[in-house]
Amino acid sequence: MSMDYSLPRGTQDILPDEINYWNHVEQTAKHIFSLYNFNEIRTPIFESSNLFNRVISESDIVKKEMYTFTDKGNRELALRPEGTAPIARAFITNNLSRAPQHSKLFYKGPMFRYERPQAGRYRQFHQIGVESIGSDHPFSDAEVITMSYRLFTSLGLRNVKIYINSVGSDTCRPVIEARIKQFLASNLSQLSENLQEKFKNNPLKMLDSKDETLQTYLSGLPDMREALSQQSKDHFNFVISYLDHLNIPFEYKPTLVRGLDYYTETVFEVVSEDLGAQNSICGGGRYNNLIKNLGGPQTPAVGFAFGMERLIMLLKKQSIPIPKRPVLVYIAALGKEYQMECLNIAEELRNNMINVTIDYSKVDFNGHIKLAQKMLADYMIIFGEKEFESKQVSIKNLANRHQDDVPFAGITNYFQTILGDAHV
Ligand code: AMP
Repeated sequence: MSMDYSLPRGTQDILPDEINYWNHVEQTAKHIFSLYNFNEIRTPIFESSNLFNRVISESDIVKKEMYTFTDKGNRELALRPEGTAPIARAFITNNLSRAPQHSKLFYKGPMFRYERPQAGRYRQFHQIGVESIGSDHPFSDAEVITMSYRLFTSLGLRNVKIYINSVGSDTCRPVIEARIKQFLASNLSQLSENLQEKFKNNPLKMLDSKDETLQTYLSGLPDMREALSQQSKDHFNFVISYLDHLNIPFEYKPTLVRGLDYYTETVFEVVSEDLGAQNSICGGGRYNNLIKNLGGPQTPAVGFAFGMERLIMLLKKQSIPIPKRPVLVYIAALGKEYQMECLNIAEELRNNMINVTIDYSKVDFNGHIKLAQKMLADYMIIFGEKEFESKQVSIKNLANRHQDDVPFAGITNYFQTILGDAHV
């Protein structure tokens, strides 16, 4: 039998060329989250299947897409399809409700869904998300929304817009569903079988359907805020007033609902208007019952998640520059007898936080310079017989070809001077 070692369908290798984008997004996110005192949490990439079965409803596509397996101890496990349920589980497992402050957490890592792979859809993809657990104050909703806005604008994304809506509490849900049904009832026979099914089982999910006929009907949908309880209305209005106060550009979108069923009250989505159909960058909302439904104490929470692959596609599409990697110095020994001395220079520069690459297979100038250029090095230190005799190396700026002679003892200083503070 011949073995297949090819890349599993729907996965991808992230190569060094690409990784600068990943690091930049991760570092920016970490930085922004820490400005709001959100701290990192890491949970396992697999959990008991029951965890997701409990929080993801039967009708949800994510359930059918789960990567489940039985381990050698006959445990039913699942590769996590999303990050919120595992964090709710960790909150309960670790008694974080007893923490002195409410838990403001962020996470990053791979998620797994058995989807049909296509552009921007993978079976292993990566999310960064936040969960603000323990506060039902509308300020917390506004805080995570503001934080997402700050993140995407800090990354340089243009025309970022936030859509928000409220799906209300448990008690509002039936009222909203009744309103939707009432509104669409007379046109029901015009809709596909699939949509008629949704009408029966989960009318809320009809709102974000891509079906054009349905969308035409929905364009006349009355303001759904009227269907909310006074408490939910107040909550939503406070969120809106905080966002107004903070000058966050958002728009009320009565058809906005989230994929997963556990959301209550505020839901939101961040989109970039420059993009086509797949313009959603990030989604989130409040989930006041999730932790209780998993057996924990009644604990309100709000969060969001965004997909790394989709975000990086956007950064590229909008031609947004990411910070250049640090300066790289290539050291070229023109003869094996100088390699030891070059090694000392390399280590000394590294002691001073300067990135150095050195190659021992080449001993001639042409071989070295070709390799240095291939590696996109910025400077080349040349060390041959002449340099050995004169006790000074030649340092070549590979961008403009300018070359200086620098005494051995002055090499670190030479780079520190030209790299300046920017480097440190
Ligand atoms: P969701 O958890 O379904 O609300 O998705 C949140 C974000 O994760 C989306 O906006 C996408 O950016 C990303 N995402 C979801 N599913 C996939 C996938 N299969 N491949 C790549 N990114 C995904």
